[in-house]
This record gives sequence, structure tokens and C-alpha cells, in this order.
Amino acid sequence: MVVHHLSCGTFDPPLVGEIVCHVLLVEADAGLVLVDTGLGLRDYADPKGRIGPTGKLLRPVSGVPDTALRQVEARGYSAADVAHVVVTHLDFDHIGGLSDFPSATVHTTADEHAAAITSPDFLDKRRYRPAQWAHGPVWQLHEGKGDNWREGLTGHEVLPGITLVPMPGHSRGHAAVAVDAGERGLIVHAGDAVFDASSYADVTPGGRPLDKTPMLRAFEQTVGRDRRAIARNHRTLRRLNDTDGVMVVPAHDKRILDDLR
Ligand SMILES: [Zn+2]
Repeated sequence: MVVHHLSCGTFDPPLVGEIVCHVLLVEADAGLVLVDTGLGLRDYADPKGRIGPTGKLLRPVSGVPDTALRQVEARGYSAADVAHVVVTHLDFDHIGGLSDFPSATVHTTADEHAAAITSPDFLDKRRYRPAQWAHGPVWQLHEGKGDNWREGLTGHEVLPGITLVPMPGHSRGHAAVAVDAGERGLIVHAGDAVFDASSYADVTPGGRPLDKTPMLRAFEQTVGRDRRAIARNHRTLRRLNDTDGVMVVPAHDKRILDDLR
């Protein structure tokens, strides 16, 4: 499968520095598949209603040309060619584009769907943005831990070569998404299981050294649900990234996306 690395939203939060929304566009047998969507057209048209006060605080600096839809179109495809979207979780900066692909099947863990939609607790109610799924996506929910996968982890193979790997911590039903890119190895989109790439790697995929970014780490702690699980996820991701033929990519670390685009 051919995998493209897209930047589908950029924020410039005070003190933290620029963060990106790293999205994968996969050319699969089943059609085009997106891993996360970043921000969508409607988020830019109605930021207040769609992404609310947190979005404003993060200071978006991207625009409509950065949406996954416009980038799919620029490659000669249409929205209908995107058959599936596999999401790491349902935070606003990962699913704003769902409404731009209304015919796609949206894969998520049953736990994340419950946290955001059917049984949010007090914190979840303040966290998620129901306007982003008000169009009624076609959900496909993946229940429980899934089957044995690799490195002691479990997962749900949602499509041939694309596996949803439960990795809660940032949110209650968060998952990583592993994509088998054939000769180019296995790409593990870690979503928000890690913010600062230096938490799991010493160098970028291109070999550039990664320094610690303390403000990004502080931000990660502020918005995450379970600090112990987050620390465990970092160790797991380091183990994966250290494995031959495996590359971990976080959603928000610009240094990794810049290397791969
Ligand atoms: Zn995020």
C-alpha cells in the first residue's frame, strides 16, 4: 500500500511552538483510507461552533487548502473515493474532516465511541465536540482488545494490512493505527499516545537528532487522562520504533512530519 503523509491542520499555541495534525492517506485495495482527518471545511467555516474555546486557545494557523478533502482532490480524487477513515480517537483536531467524507466508514474503538458519544463522563463532556459527528457518520466500532498482534500488543485488523491497536491513556479509548506499507515497512500512527517524538526516539526517520520539547510534554500531561498509561505507551512505542522495519509517527510533532513530506 502506498502511504502519503499529509499535514491537515497547524496550530501555534503560546509557548509550545507549532504543532501539526499528521494524517495518513493510504491507497488501499478497498479504496482510499485516511488515518485521522485533522481539521475539516466546517471547522474553518464555524470555528466557534465546531471546535470551541480550546480550539481558539491553540491558535490555528492553517486553512481550507490544508484540509484532507482539498488534498485528496488535489491528487485527482473525490470525497467519495475515501472509503474508510480509521481514527486514533475522537478529539476535535483528529476528526474535524469526518463531515467532508460522509460516505466513508469510520473505524474507532468501542471504548472511544462510548467515551465521546454514548457515555461521556464529566471530563469527556467538556472534551469532545458533538457538532463534528452531527452529520451521522457510518461508524464501525471495534470492541475490546482484539487479537494478538505483535510486541505483546493486541489489535483489530480493520482492513487488510491496517490494524487498530488499543492504546488508552490520552483518552479512554485511544488507539494507534498500524499500516503495512509493504517494502517501506510498518507505519504506526501513534495519534496522541505520544506528543514529543523524543519520548520514543533519539532521531527523526531521516536521522536528525531529536531534542526534548518540555512544553510539548507539559501540554501532553495537561490534556491526557491517565499519566501512568501514557508513560507505558511511550515505552511501548519506543520498543516498536526500535524494531527493524517499524516507524512510529505521532500526530503532532512537526519534526517527524517535516521529515516525511
Ligand atoms: Zn491531538
